[in-house]
Amino acid sequence: MAKRKIAVIGVGKIAQDQHLPVIDRSEDFELAATVSTRGVGHNGVPVFKTPAELYEALPEVSLVSICTPPGIRHQYVREALEAGKDVMMEKPPTTTISELDDLVAYAGRLGRVLYQTWHSQYNAAVDRTRDILAESGVKSVRIDWRESVRKWHPGQDWVWEPGGFGVCDPGINAMSIFTKVMPFPVFVESSKLTFPANRQTPVDVEIVFKSGQLHKPSLSAGFNWLEESGEIWTIRFETMAGDVLKLENGGRSLRVNDELVLQHGDEEYGLMYERFATLLDRHETDVDAAPLRLMADVFLLGARVNGPAFEW
Ligand code: NAP
Repeated sequence: MAKRKIAVIGVGKIAQDQHLPVIDRSEDFELAATVSTRGVGHNGVPVFKTPAELYEALPEVSLVSICTPPGIRHQYVREALEAGKDVMMEKPPTTTISELDDLVAYAGRLGRVLYQTWHSQYNAAVDRTRDILAESGVKSVRIDWRESVRKWHPGQDWVWEPGGFGVCDPGINAMSIFTKVMPFPVFVESSKLTFPANRQTPVDVEIVFKSGQLHKPSLSAGFNWLEESGEIWTIRFETMAGDVLKLENGGRSLRVNDELVLQHGDEEYGLMYERFATLLDRHETDVDAAPLRLMADVFLLGARVNGPAFEW
């Protein structure tokens, strides 16, 4: 079967680190164009300044992957759907829940496929964790998500603007794993957000969750963006059976009682593009709003702490 032609919109860090190389290797997709305000291309394909120019010039390209920051996503996704495109979008989907609801409804009205990616969910160790917890129950969970903003978002000022999520941009990856693996619904009980004096979004967040479970599991998370010792992307679970599960490396390895039971490389974006191909075959939309909802509640309930100024 001929490969499907896809355009990438927004050629920043994640498009260059993951989307473009994964499309280059894909058996399902071939890159047809990029849309880049800075004119960044890839392998000589046509480059357009705006999505509208792409839609006008290459109407046969019916798929787009939107890799911009979330603030512009609602407008870009609506425009793409209206132009008759099926759409895949980076996380976090949008800056507000009402925008995401609108996109799902709009895609449904127009009969288009809308795929919301959550890359951290695409790990076999995450699925194994979900299966164990479904069987053994949950006594406690502790999420520690710490990384360097200077390494992962170098010079990206949008992350510090309202709607840029701050440290909740990586933190929502942890939320996407948490909401996928938990065998019962979880809610934010309280949160504490530390804002640099000169910025609009948090650099450090502490969260306590609650549930409707009678045994009152202890559930908490900490996100930090000034960790320079390397990434700590770990979730520790204690099951009702007394086992300790440690999901490490952003979901790529699982230890049970300190024994490594599963470890694999970075397959997230390859699996996401395979998933998009399957959704297109089935003409199905896949939008999981749970991580964004939970993170929105972190902001709704957030107590503010004033921290030192942040400079790159
Ligand atoms: P980035 O390096 O700042 O790239 C975003 C690109 O989007 C920009 O380079 C720009 O590309 C385009 N763009 C269009 N409108 C824009 C606007 N109003 N403001 C800023 N950029 C605009 O960001 P990124 O790290 O790739 O992140 C993009 C999305 O991917 C975010 O939602 C992020 O959460 C997600 N993500 C990032 C990482 C990571 O490691 N950084 C990992 C996973 C997911 P052009 O100049 O080509 O138009």
